[in-house]
Amino acid sequence: MPVEKPGFPVADYHVHLSPELSIEQAVSLGKERQVQIGIVEHPGPGYKIQTDADLRQYIDGLRHYPVRIGLQPVYVGWSGSFSKSLLDELDYILMDALTLPRPGGGWLAIWQIDTMVDDEEEFMARYMKFIEQVLTTEPIDIFAWPTFLPVPIAREYKALWTRQRIDRILELARARKIAIEINEVAHVPDEDFIVAAKRAGLKFTFGTDSRNHNAAHLYYGYQMAQKCGLTEADMWAPKKK
Ligand SMILES: [Zn+2]
Repeated sequence: MPVEKPGFPVADYHVHLSPELSIEQAVSLGKERQVQIGIVEHPGPGYKIQTDADLRQYIDGLRHYPVRIGLQPVYVGWSGSFSKSLLDELDYILMDALTLPRPGGGWLAIWQIDTMVDDEEEFMARYMKFIEQVLTTEPIDIFAWPTFLPVPIAREYKALWTRQRIDRILELARARKIAIEINEVAHVPDEDFIVAAKRAGLKFTFGTDSRNHNAAHLYYGYQMAQKCGLTEADMWAPKKK
């Protein structure tokens, strides 16, 4: 099935600027591909945005460009470092659940290729607990990389994402009107999840999680939009500011 761009306005809300992608380049790729660009940056320890002053500078630096301005927190507790009024100036907050807190401290980055999973069920229980935390405790508009599984268990996708687990995620997202990212890198979530989420009344976003010329280059997202019959009404958009 050839994949066509949907007939409705499209946005890529998951673009990171980098030495390989300047704001000018991101804007120009968006224009060329007719996709609205949304920029995200990580706040917190180890990243550039740690204080209100940093966040102010980030927002002001992007404001003159035709892009949406977002933040992609990684660690739970991140929002305590920023004033609410400043966070309200952002168009959105996007967060994934891929950096699992370890029981003994530190984190497990489950997107890394060498992630080990000793016990699938134990892993899923921990993962679900963290997803619950991400979806319930702090500001969030978009749940990124939903249902991603680490490499050693990726092939068990259908078996591990049970009806019960999927329903729990949908329930939590619906309670706070959190949109579901259709992720271009990992090709998640799958078609069944998207159909279930649509039925639950959830909205969707497309995300390339790119730091280069892949920004606004959507294939999986368009394919899923076509297969699942997504319309403009199914797509999330920031509140007008
Ligand atoms: Zn990202």
